[in-house]
Amino acid sequence: MKSQIIMAFMVCLAFLILIPMAISIKDPITQPEVSDNSQDYQNSGEMTDAGLTIRLLSNGEVQNLTMEQYLVGAVGAEMPAAFELEALKAQAVALRTYVIYKQSFEKDRHSNADICSDSSCCAAWNSEDTLREKWGDDYDTYYSKILQAVNETDGLYLTYGGEPALAVFHSSSSGATEDSSQVWGTAMPYLISVKTPENEENVPGFVSSVTMTENEFMEVFKESYPEADFSAGLPDSIEGMIYDLSGRLSKITIGGIEISGTTLRSMYNLRSATITISFSGNDIVLTTSGYGHGVGMSQYGANVMAKSGSSFSDILAQYYPGTVLTKAEIQD
Ligand SMILES: [Zn+2]
Repeated sequence: MKSQIIMAFMVCLAFLILIPMAISIKDPITQPEVSDNSQDYQNSGEMTDAGLTIRLLSNGEVQNLTMEQYLVGAVGAEMPAAFELEALKAQAVALRTYVIYKQSFEKDRHSNADICSDSSCCAAWNSEDTLREKWGDDYDTYYSKILQAVNETDGLYLTYGGEPALAVFHSSSSGATEDSSQVWGTAMPYLISVKTPENEENVPGFVSSVTMTENEFMEVFKESYPEADFSAGLPDSIEGMIYDLSGRLSKITIGGIEISGTTLRSMYNLRSATITISFSGNDIVLTTSGYGHGVGMSQYGANVMAKSGSSFSDILAQYYPGTVLTKAEIQD
């Protein structure tokens, strides 16, 4: 008898607990958690990715996306999804910063868009269809991982002197990143050469070379500089190779014409400006290490740092020294 009373009491108690739980579980459906959060941020003057709108120019069309939607497609396009979460978070902050910089300082670059999806102009961006095709069976895993990287850095971007920073990035460097003045002629206090840990062991294709005949080399050079004098032949027509502190070729004189290492890089489609030149028979071999312009965050370097235990903010502090991690705020 006593046990029946206890049982009846337990059943009543269970109902008393479960009914309010059922009600509260239903609540988020009518009032999504996301809008609750953005309301809180709005009250405190802070902005979430869900409340920021990006006008993206992709395939000739402008679409309005939330910052969250933009960043998932941009991080997915710009960094391998298999990278460490902290590296992906650093990439999300760099891209968020890049868009905010464009919105603040480069409004006229595209007439009715903030940013485009062309990596040679702004930054790459992949649609859901492209990501599904690229990731195949890993789509769900990678999508959640990148969404996590975006959400765990919600609204965070880098500033320098109170203004959005130009958070450019590249694939990999050989020992040190590059100073922006060496590549674009403009010095930025936070885009200076810093040490970076990646090497041949953790970057596929870290060292690569382009081989062509000496004649092909001279013909390509003459397309840009018809006045070049190759009467001394090769290798004698190549001289004055000067390297900068980051190990990249700063200047070189070819056929009597002095050009920069970055010009040589683009002329021969080389992977980086960390260039050495050698000769083999009638061939010239241009060998490079690392990939990209070398300025700002190294993506592979970020991944190596994350593997050694660095957080996304450690990574950003390393590659953009002097910048401050800032929370986006509502503009008046
Ligand atoms: Zn663009």
